Amino acid sequence: MTQRIAVLGATGSIGDSTLSILAEHPQLYQVYALSGHGRLDKLLTLCQQFQPVRVAVPSEKVDEFATRLQQAGLNCDVVGGQAGLDDIAADPEVDTVVAAIVGAAGLSSTLTAARAGKRILLANKEALVMAGSLMMQAVKDNGATLLPLDSEHNAIFQCLPNEVQQNNTAIHDAGHGVKKLWLTASGGPFLHKSLQQMQAASVSEAVKHPNWSMGKKISVDSATMMNKGLELIEACHLFDLAESDIQVVIHPQSIIHSMVEYTDGSFLAQLGSPDMRTPIAHALAYPQRIATSVESLDLFQLAALEFVKPDLEKFACLKLARQAMQTGQSATIALNAANEVAVEAFIKQQVFLTDIALINARVLDKMLGGDAILASQHTTGIAQNDTGLSQGINPNFSLNIKQLDDILNIDKIARSFAEQVIQECRS
Ligand code: NAD
Ligand code: MG
Repeated sequence: MTQRIAVLGATGSIGDSTLSILAEHPQLYQVYALSGHGRLDKLLTLCQQFQPVRVAVPSEKVDEFATRLQQAGLNCDVVGGQAGLDDIAADPEVDTVVAAIVGAAGLSSTLTAARAGKRILLANKEALVMAGSLMMQAVKDNGATLLPLDSEHNAIFQCLPNEVQQNNTAIHDAGHGVKKLWLTASGGPFLHKSLQQMQAASVSEAVKHPNWSMGKKISVDSATMMNKGLELIEACHLFDLAESDIQVVIHPQSIIHSMVEYTDGSFLAQLGSPDMRTPIAHALAYPQRIATSVESLDLFQLAALEFVKPDLEKFACLKLARQAMQTGQSATIALNAANEVAVEAFIKQQVFLTDIALINARVLDKMLGGDAILASQHTTGIAQNDTGLSQGINPNFSLNIKQLDDILNIDKIARSFAEQVIQECRS
């Protein structure tokens, strides 16, 4: 039987890798729907190549894009905006939704896919950072299947016992002997650079990842290690563990994609070339395997595998993510929102790379009442000891998060706080 696939975020880096696997196996997969936000020329080319039945674009582009499709002789249903993405995610014809939109923009369609009981291949980690409990509950209640594409989470999934993978038993069952997860990180382009060098980094230096080729936002997140922070929170929800059960280790070669430590002393690891097509192929075919043209790992070429403890002063975002996870959902929503705004400001050259951690910490402070750490470094002039708590949201607010609107409300407040902090630091 052919699996009908909707690739949401088809014009991005994960979209590229996914479509290249789908193109290699046309007898197994039908590209039923695609979505794109910015690069609509590219989306048109993808429509010509894959002939999807449905396509989603921003609302204001629906008519124009429909005309372009018609001119290209394509018969394709065009839908717009968030409602259009949600409609595709719940389409009864769709078997599998690849959630590859970047940031909070991907949350609604991912949650909709879970509520519609789909098989979800999750790249959009921000959906779990913002709405982990809601997502996991929706998956459970509606018989959906959630398979991680993030290479670390996919690696951990592969190293877990079968019964846990299939959701037949809990990861905590003593018989499984799972002791700890080891989340590997490359350390990004500034691993061997000083904080001063990091502060002076240009956008092109920050997005130049040593091992992976990815979208801009996640590349900046890798440079600050916020990406690992988001992944830590993602792992807590996916695998139902506390943040203290997950150890982050820097492994600069990006050959081991993560590990599971067992109580008998065993470490199970998944290794491979740093190429997203491997976890994508794994999740598409699971529980079977399909071939890919990913370059095979040449073990004889590997000089050494290194492991280093992360420096939490330099990579303060990672420390913030642990604190946010301990504090509760309002904190993880606020952190994610602040970070999206701060990364955007860095890309627009309004703040330094090292300011991102400070902006994130300030927003957490403002929202939650002053308990978030403030990073030790001081760069563009963001005050370190101003807790500005008056309008703060009580962390217990997490208890009242019942629906998507509650989440989006906190997200909105955190974004405006972040804008405010950025204005303060620029003036
Ligand atoms: P990207 O920037 O290359 O692509 C993002 C996609 O999202 C594009 O198709 C874009 O059109 C779409 N998009 C952006 N804003 C949107 C909006 N407001 N509404 C609807 N669609 C929108 O990003 P990427 O690197 O492919 O990453 C996508 C997701 O996968 C992120 O959450 C990232 O953290 C995660 N991820 C990426 C990688 C990787 O190797 N690239 C690895 C692991 C996880
Ligand atoms: Mg990852």
